[in-house]
Amino acid sequence: MRLGLPRALTYYDYYPFWAGFFYKLGIQLHTSPQTNRTIMEDGLKKAPDETCLPVKILVGHLLALQDQDVDGIFLPRLVSMEKNTYLCPKILGLPESVLYAIPREVKVYTVDINWRKGKGLVLKNLYQFGEEIQRTKRQIREAFVEAQRWQKAYQRMRNGGWSFEESMECFEVLAEPVKLEKLGFIGNLPFTEDMDLQIKEKKSNPKIALVGHSYLAYENYANLNLLQHLKKKAEVKVVENVPSGFIEEKHGELPKKMFWSHAKKIYGAGAKYVESQEIDGLIYLSCFGCGTDSMTNDMLARKAREQQKPYLVLTLDEHTGEAGLITRIEAFLDMLERRKAHESYISPYGKRLDRYSNIT
Ligand code: SF4
Repeated sequence: MRLGLPRALTYYDYYPFWAGFFYKLGIQLHTSPQTNRTIMEDGLKKAPDETCLPVKILVGHLLALQDQDVDGIFLPRLVSMEKNTYLCPKILGLPESVLYAIPREVKVYTVDINWRKGKGLVLKNLYQFGEEIQRTKRQIREAFVEAQRWQKAYQRMRNGGWSFEESMECFEVLAEPVKLEKLGFIGNLPFTEDMDLQIKEKKSNPKIALVGHSYLAYENYANLNLLQHLKKKAEVKVVENVPSGFIEEKHGELPKKMFWSHAKKIYGAGAKYVESQEIDGLIYLSCFGCGTDSMTNDMLARKAREQQKPYLVLTLDEHTGEAGLITRIEAFLDMLERRKAHESYISPYGKRLDRYSNIT
């Protein structure tokens, strides 16, 4: 059996989980190609205007999978990946909200993953899915254990500073537990709770943190190669480099807990970076029309002002042009360098406008 998985949205966070799960079940998981012009244009044509860019891209990938040799499309509904937090309603609405883009003759397999009521409910739903793909409860249980191991291995790689591409290569290309074990990422080793913020190379370059949704930050076609452009001139840290312990710590400082899991992660990582002496500035990669971004972005902007940390917001949609993006990045990085060179000078701009500022 060969199932198609769209390379969009939750692929960027949970692909290793599904790769491990289907590997153990002996089912091939085939991902759609990297986003390209055709995928993007097809998604924009078919998806409703009012939805966000990542969902439009997902629709493009579903259309691309129809040309591939697969027995069906796998599109899980991720409701809650940890207790008391939920994925965005646009993700909860999958797969029903995008079924119109898939011809009736293509079989769509789905399963609800909802940790709200604990592991029992997750397994129950997986058993039901197992009946659909003719697998026993025992096989599903073993596959679930394997999936969790692969996902933890991925988290450990990212916390350890591996790039998204390096880590994904292990799961997409070397997707065999034995090879992962050789790399030392699967086993019973405890997770490191140390965050390696020390940036070792090219010490003179500015050090920045890029915070935003994984499915935009690593979606190179949609973000116009933002990470590559940044890495030419700066040392870059991302949300996934921050271990969950720090995210919980920063989240715990809020008067009210955050409801949305992506927002929680982005806020926690961003708040940690804002306070870090190692980081010269933050870039928030926001998605036009995203409800959770409008809140998280504002909270982080206030925190950055408190700490006098330079902060840039880049808002992406399907109309964003590469030249404008590069100009803004370059201006931001130039400002960081100037600020470093004149460390004792802090502009009085905003002194009276900003009640959160510490400037006296
Ligand atoms: S969190 Fe924002 S960007 Fe992500 S799916 Fe929801 S609306 Fe779209």
